[in-house]
Amino acid sequence: MHQVASERTDWNAIREEFPILREHAHGHPLIYFDNAATTQKPRAVIDALRHYYEHDNANVHRGLHELSARATEAYERSRQRVAQYLGAASADELVFTRGTTESINLVAYAWGGKFVHAGDVILLTEMEHHSNLVPWQLLAARTGARLRFVPVNEDGTLALEQLDSLLTSEVKLFAFTHVSNSLGTINPVADLCQRARAVGARTLVDAAQSVGHLPVNVQELGCDFLAFSGHKMCGPTGIGALYGRAAILDSMPPWHGGGEMIVSVTLEKSTFKKPPYRFEAGTPNIAGAIGLAAAIDYIERIGRPAIFEHDARLAAYAMEHLAELPGMRILGPSGRRGAIVGFVMDAAHPHDLTTFADQRGLALRGGHHCNQPLMRKFGLPGTTRASFYFYNTTAEIDRMIDILRDAARFFS
Ligand code: PLP
Repeated sequence: MHQVASERTDWNAIREEFPILREHAHGHPLIYFDNAATTQKPRAVIDALRHYYEHDNANVHRGLHELSARATEAYERSRQRVAQYLGAASADELVFTRGTTESINLVAYAWGGKFVHAGDVILLTEMEHHSNLVPWQLLAARTGARLRFVPVNEDGTLALEQLDSLLTSEVKLFAFTHVSNSLGTINPVADLCQRARAVGARTLVDAAQSVGHLPVNVQELGCDFLAFSGHKMCGPTGIGALYGRAAILDSMPPWHGGGEMIVSVTLEKSTFKKPPYRFEAGTPNIAGAIGLAAAIDYIERIGRPAIFEHDARLAAYAMEHLAELPGMRILGPSGRRGAIVGFVMDAAHPHDLTTFADQRGLALRGGHHCNQPLMRKFGLPGTTRASFYFYNTTAEIDRMIDILRDAARFFS
C-alpha cells in the first residue's frame, strides 16, 4: 500500500534533536504548544550559530580579509537558500529583515510611500495579525488612502462571495495572511492573487504561519510580496525576509538610510544600490541569516508535505478530543487547516486557563494573539491557543486534554 510521507518519518528521532524539549516547567515535563508564537530550535541550527561565531565572525561586504570574505559568502549563500526555498526567480528578490513585521513595514513605507495616494484603497481581511494591519493604518494616515476589509465568516473562513464588490479598481494592494494565527484557516492564496491581478492590484502575503509548515512557492502563488519570520520555522529570532518581484523592488526607493545600501555619498546626497541591498541599511543579522539557512536545510530534510500531514493529524486529534470537554467552543474551520487550535471554555477566562496549564508544565497561549479586531468580531475577550509543530505528539495532546478536564472541574 502507498505510504504517506509522514509515515516514513521517524518523528521520535526528530524530537530528540530539540534539546529544549527535555526541559521541565514547574516540576513537570515541558509540553510546548506555543509554536505559532515561536518554534523551538534543533541542534543543527544551534550548531550553525555557534560555528559561525567560533570560526567565521566578521562584518559582511566590507573588509578585504579572510574572515569578512567567509562571512559574506555564508550570508549570501543563505540568501540564495531562502530564495530557492520560496521558489523565487532570483536571490535578488530576497531582502533580509528582522521578520514579518519589518518586511510589511518596508513595503508600507518604500512601496506605499511612492505608489499609494489619497483615495486609493488597501484591501485587508478581518483576520489579519496587527503586523498586517497597523502598518497600513499608518500608511492610510500619511497618504489619505482608505482601508477596506474582507469579512470573516462564523466558521473562520473569508467571506469570498463579497470579494468582487471589495476588490475594485481603486484597490492598490491586497494584503492578507496565508494561515490565520488565531483560527488556523488556510486562505486560497493563488486564487486571491489571481483575482487581485485581474483588477491591477498588487498582493502581499503574510506567510508567518505558513512557510515553515507547508509548501510555499511564490511563483506558483503569483504574489508580488511575501513576508515571513525565521523564528517561526526553527530559525533564530531577529531574522526573516521579504520576497518582492524584481521589477517591483527595482521601482521602490529606499526606506532606511545608512551603510551598505549606498553606491556613493556626498555631504548633500547619495545614490543607492540595486535591490536587495538598497533595503538592507547597516550591519545585518549575519548569524541570523546563516541560522535561517540551517533551519531551511533541516526542514527540507524532513519535507514540508510530511510536516503538514503530521501537524494536520495532530490538529484533528486535538479538535476531536477538545470537543468532548464541557462548555468548549473551538474556533476556525473544521476541514483542511493549519495546526493552530484556538478555543474558549465557558468555565474559565483564557488567561486563567493558560496559567492553570502552565502550572502543570503545559505552554499554551492565552489572549488576543495580536488579533484584537477579530476577537471583538467574535465577541470574545481572547482565546486559549494550542499550536503544534512536527516535534509534538498525540501523547502530549492526551496530557493537555487531562489538564483541561481538570481545569473545567476546578473553575466550575
Ligand atoms: N503575522 C502573523 C500571521 C503572525 O502570526 C505573526 C506572529 O505571531 C506575525 C505576523 C508577526 O511576526 P513577527 O513578530 O515575527 O514579525
